[in-house]
Amino acid sequence: MLPSDGMPTALIPVFIPAEALKHRIAELAKEIRGDVPNDDLHFVCVLKGGVLFLADLIREMEGTVTMDFMALSSYGSGTTSSGEVRLVKDLDYGLEGRNVIIVEDIVDTGLTLHYLQEILRARNPRSLRTACLLSKPSRRKIDVSVDYIGFTIEDRFVVGYGLDYSEQYRNLPYIGALQ
Ligand code: 5GP
Repeated sequence: MLPSDGMPTALIPVFIPAEALKHRIAELAKEIRGDVPNDDLHFVCVLKGGVLFLADLIREMEGTVTMDFMALSSYGSGTTSSGEVRLVKDLDYGLEGRNVIIVEDIVDTGLTLHYLQEILRARNPRSLRTACLLSKPSRRKIDVSVDYIGFTIEDRFVVGYGLDYSEQYRNLPYIGALQ
């Protein structure tokens, strides 16, 4: 059962420690830069969950990096998403000719990411890749391609390091598990 009125953050069990996040994100940054060695990278971060991941990822990147943000809202209820996605905040800049990296917190059913990839691909980027900090493959409803995955996890509801439950817990420096 998930806490409905807030559990003190100190009581949330650690699922992925901060040190492990830091180490893996440095590896991902190297991998991403290695795939686009001599060109600009444009990071598109999905608000709000991807923000901490983006912030740490780009600080590990070499070369020219720019970023932009978008916000999506899913019509799902509780801890599941329906796959009906609405664009709440669009990007400030176009993607034409850019090497775009989508930065997402977690890919669960894959429906949100699939929608996002479709709309961004239509804007003619030079390349479009996706980095997700976490992936829950057992929950997938659609085959979506994710180029960079931080950690593959079992079906747990996780919070912290940008991920929320009812807007809480995003500030935890680690990934915790609520169930
Ligand atoms: P999908 O469309 O892949 O099912 O859902 C993606 C979105 O659902 C994520 O961006 C995230 O906002 C939310 N989500 C999925 N699993 C979790 C989870 O374990 N914890 C939290 N906090 N959000 C999740």
